[in-house]
Amino acid sequence: MEESANSINRFLITIASFARELNTAKDKVDISRAIEKVLGRFFTISSSLTAVYSEEEWHVIRLEDDFPLTKVEMENYYDLALSRKSPSFFPLDDSDYLIILPSVKSGKVLSTFFGYVKENENGFTQELETMFGFFSFYSGIVIENINLFEEVNASAKVQQELKEYFEMMLNSLDEGICVLDKEREFVFKNRKYDEINPDEEVIEHIREIVVNTLMENEGQASEKEFDEGFFSFNSVILLSDEQVLVRLEDISNTKELERMKKVDQMKTEFIANISHELRTPLSAIRAYSETINDSVDMMDSDTLKEFMGTIMDQSDHLAFLLDQLLDFSRMERKDLKLEPDNFDLVPVIRKAKESNKEKYEENQVEVILDIPDEKVMVYADEKRIKQVMINLISNAVKYSDKTKEKKYVKVQLGSIGREVIIEITDNGIGIADEEHKKIFTKFYRVDSSLTYEVEGTGLGLAICQEIVHEHGKEIVVQSTPGKGSSFVFRLDKAEG
Ligand code: ADP
Repeated sequence: MEESANSINRFLITIASFARELNTAKDKVDISRAIEKVLGRFFTISSSLTAVYSEEEWHVIRLEDDFPLTKVEMENYYDLALSRKSPSFFPLDDSDYLIILPSVKSGKVLSTFFGYVKENENGFTQELETMFGFFSFYSGIVIENINLFEEVNASAKVQQELKEYFEMMLNSLDEGICVLDKEREFVFKNRKYDEINPDEEVIEHIREIVVNTLMENEGQASEKEFDEGFFSFNSVILLSDEQVLVRLEDISNTKELERMKKVDQMKTEFIANISHELRTPLSAIRAYSETINDSVDMMDSDTLKEFMGTIMDQSDHLAFLLDQLLDFSRMERKDLKLEPDNFDLVPVIRKAKESNKEKYEENQVEVILDIPDEKVMVYADEKRIKQVMINLISNAVKYSDKTKEKKYVKVQLGSIGREVIIEITDNGIGIADEEHKKIFTKFYRVDSSLTYEVEGTGLGLAICQEIVHEHGKEIVVQSTPGKGSSFVFRLDKAEG
């Protein structure tokens, strides 16, 4: 009874000390040492070898002293031991024995300990066989853990290397790259992004792109102008809907170049236009003056008066064109100075209508003034506002729709708080949505069959906008092709 209690005790102590050794094992060599140490409690080990057999090769993990077996012998014993997948004990010669202790996990031999031992006095008992069976199983678990740990470490290392590689690649790019998660938080920015150092407005736009990309579930491409510059954006979804990569490029220079080319082209068109615009009144003046000069004696006073009237009208038109050019040059020099004062807007509008009389009569356009009889006092530059009104009424007449039977232009005055609203509406040819912004650009003229015949320089609206801006206000267009247009701006009411 006491004998068996002792034996259990020994069994437990041995297992506990083996477990302790294995707990601190960092690799297969440590495990082999622990096995040798625990076997040393029962046998005298003269030499040992620990190896892994894979792909028909032995891979030695640890070799202690000269291990006397040849490779072929080892393999024979190994095959025998393997068929049992448990510790085996083979007599060699005299009192020498070979212990084979495989470390087994889920039926797989992960490593094998070969020990060249002298038999102990008790021999290879049933108790030892059970205990060694446990060593075999337990060391198998620990080796597998170590293997797994190494694998995870290796894959973590590969991941880290990949991450560094990609970061290096992304950092070498000449475009800003950032990655945001689905909470719209930045998780990566490359070097170029930091160099660009986008301001809040751009960052907010990037966040919007991330939301749209995730919502639409596909990459987005866009271009946008900010105070900071002109940027192009491209986005792609990363990591199964979790993150979005946004590529941004500062294309201000390209856009500026495009803009300059466009302005250059517009200037060429402008020169052609203005030459034509100037030639028309000049030719008329010359033709009428020549006729008068050649046949003044034969002319009656009415004809003479009519001819002189035409010459005066054409001179006025010439003066208008030259004034427009002069204004444009002032505008370019930022020298369009205002002389604001209090004045009544009503007579100014009437005069603006009057100066377009010939044009609207010729085009058979009715100009309706929906304005009050009493004074509408504003604080602005009277001359400049009259110029704006002449221009807007002139455009509304010029771009009237020839196919409509009843063509009209309507000028309305309204009031909101401390401001007067001026609205010029027509039922003309209208302007397509994409042109609304462009028509205020200098030299810009809508290129269509409907506008082809209409004379103009493309400067009128640019000058009108500049004048309204100088008053601290905006000029807005609403228009539908085929229906008509409406230009609206506001002025401050006169004080008191
Ligand atoms: P333009 O000398 O060509 O009239 P503007 O700067 O006054 O130059 O106008 C720019 C362009 O805007 C015009 O060429 C025309 O195509 C368009 N436009 C301006 N006003 C109107 C309008 N009331 N209806 C339709 N198109 C208009």
